[in-house]
Amino acid sequence: MNIKKIMAIGAHFDDIEINCGGTIAKAIKEGSSVLMVVAGDGEFYHHTGEILRTKSQALRESRKAALKLGVVNKNLICLDFPEKSIPYNVEIIEKIDALISFWNPDIIFTHWANDTHQDHANVSKTVLSAARYHNSILMWEPIFPSGRTAISSFYPQIYIDISDVQEQKIQALKCHESQIKKFTNRGINWIDGIIARSKYRGFEISCNYAEAFQPVRMKFNIS
Ligand SMILES: [Zn+2]
Repeated sequence: MNIKKIMAIGAHFDDIEINCGGTIAKAIKEGSSVLMVVAGDGEFYHHTGEILRTKSQALRESRKAALKLGVVNKNLICLDFPEKSIPYNVEIIEKIDALISFWNPDIIFTHWANDTHQDHANVSKTVLSAARYHNSILMWEPIFPSGRTAISSFYPQIYIDISDVQEQKIQALKCHESQIKKFTNRGINWIDGIIARSKYRGFEISCNYAEAFQPVRMKFNIS
C-alpha cells in the first residue's frame, strides 16, 4: 500500500500526538504528507470554573508539537468546537466531510468509537459518518487518563513500529506543557503512561516501541 497522504482527526490538542504521533513522524520521514485536524477549541476548565488552558495557549503548544513530528503549521487545523461538548451532528460531519474532500487522504486515523470520553467517541462517530465513501480508516487506542475502554475492549490488529521516531514523539508530547502541568498536579505521570503503552505494543511485535490500531476498513491494492 502506497500511503502518500494521511489525515489524522482528534478531539483535543494532544490526542493525535499521544496516539499516532509516532506513525505520523515515521510517515513524514518516508515522504508522506499529513493533515492534522483537531475538533475542539483547546480551552479547558476545571469544574470550579478556573481556566486551566486558554485557546491561544493550546494552539501555541500544539503548533510546536506538530512541528516536532514534521507537520507544518498550515497542516494543523482547529475546528473550534467547545471542549467537553464536541457534538455529533450535521455541522461537524459536514466540516470533516469537506476536509476529507480537500485533502483526499489515502488513509484516515481517528479515535476508537467506544472511548469513554464523550468528545473522543463523538469525533470517531463523526469521522465514520463523514468518511462513508472512504475505504481506509484506522482507529487508535484509547489511553488513561483522558479516556479508556469500558464494556467492550479495543482490539489491536494493526501495529506500526515507531522505534526510530519514539524520541521525536516524546519531544512532541513535551510541547504540551499545560497538559503535563494538569496531570502532574493530580499525581499522574502522563508521558510515562504513553511510553509504557508503546513499549508494550512494541514488545508484542518484537520491536522497542509501537502504536496499535483497530481498522474500520482497509483497502489494499496488489501490485
Ligand atoms: Zn482527548
